Amino acid sequence: MTEGFSTWLEIDLDRIRNNVQLLLESSGTPVMAVVKADGYGHGALAVARAAMEAGATWCGLARLDEALQLRRAGINRRILVLGYTPPNRIEDAIANNVALTVYDRGVALAYAQRAGEAGQALRVHVKVDTGMGRLGMPAEEALAFLAGSQDAEALEIEGVFTHFARADEPGAGTTEQQLAVFDRFLDELESIGARPAIVHAANSSGALYFPAARFDLVRTGIAMLGIDPAPEAPLPPEFRAALSWKARLSSKKTLPPQHGISYGHAYITQTDECIGVVPVGYADGFRRVPGNYVLIEGRRVPVVGNVAMDQTMVRLDSVPQAEIGSEVVIIGRQGDQVISAQEIARQWGTISYEVVCGLADRLPRVYLNESK
Ligand SMILES: *Cc1c(COP(=O)(O)O)cnc(C)c1O
Repeated sequence: MTEGFSTWLEIDLDRIRNNVQLLLESSGTPVMAVVKADGYGHGALAVARAAMEAGATWCGLARLDEALQLRRAGINRRILVLGYTPPNRIEDAIANNVALTVYDRGVALAYAQRAGEAGQALRVHVKVDTGMGRLGMPAEEALAFLAGSQDAEALEIEGVFTHFARADEPGAGTTEQQLAVFDRFLDELESIGARPAIVHAANSSGALYFPAARFDLVRTGIAMLGIDPAPEAPLPPEFRAALSWKARLSSKKTLPPQHGISYGHAYITQTDECIGVVPVGYADGFRRVPGNYVLIEGRRVPVVGNVAMDQTMVRLDSVPQAEIGSEVVIIGRQGDQVISAQEIARQWGTISYEVVCGLADRLPRVYLNESK
């Protein structure tokens, strides 16, 4: 299946199914599969399907157009758009049965107007800012908004939610503070009889590390994929990473001492050195920074010289058996060596999310264990 590719991604859908089952069992809460940004680079449709097969009941996206893509592909579960939708898209949202997020009263009014004109209700979830400082009404304002819109017909308020800033640092203390604000808000909502059907707060790390944040639904992205949200918030060991990034060695030659390697000659050979080329570069999402490694012949092999757009040079002296066509693993397992997205994130000074979201469209996605 992969013979014709010089580099490709392999995504094992059984692992996603298994991770979703683990989330359902450990949280005892329905799961929203968050598949924005093309399923964090894994392929939104394939991830959404696998998650649904395993029992996820919602899909979460950042943008309406991402949601419509899933609808066009036949995903018929409940969908929530978590980000901003311009009011002139309300008809699209209604026609495709997509729920939108509301976090500003002016925008909500525009939505209501549009929905009223369409003669149909728009389903919305109200977002409350309990301390994230991003999208969301302050609790007071959300309370007033929800109290005032109980009998507005154009907006069907189906849910209310918040989002945590530091759930992936379980010791930080701020998630407890956000939860306290949210709980107080929910109590007040309850007391005026305005609590919507679905309350949600937790992302992956929230769902795993803060049981009190599970409410009626958990919104999980990174954990479904089997990737640690952060070094401080590792997944339980039963979770398995679904994605591997592989390539085939495309060149091997011995260069004499004092030979410059790649743009800028940032690396100069010391002795006779065996230099290989991996057909992967920064245009694929492999960062142009020093200190990278890949796996060849079951060993960690250092990248030498600057990463180019489509190619990366490696030193092959420790793996003399490697030849053109040999498998190279950039992310994943080879023999008993593993390079995880989390390890690469540490090497690049970023987070695991950015590593997989940066995997370019041009990398073919090959799915293992697709359902029949
Ligand atoms: C992206 C996102 C999530 C999913 O976060 P993970 O850490 O990947 O589980 C949940 N909720 C909101 C609002 C998001 O933007």
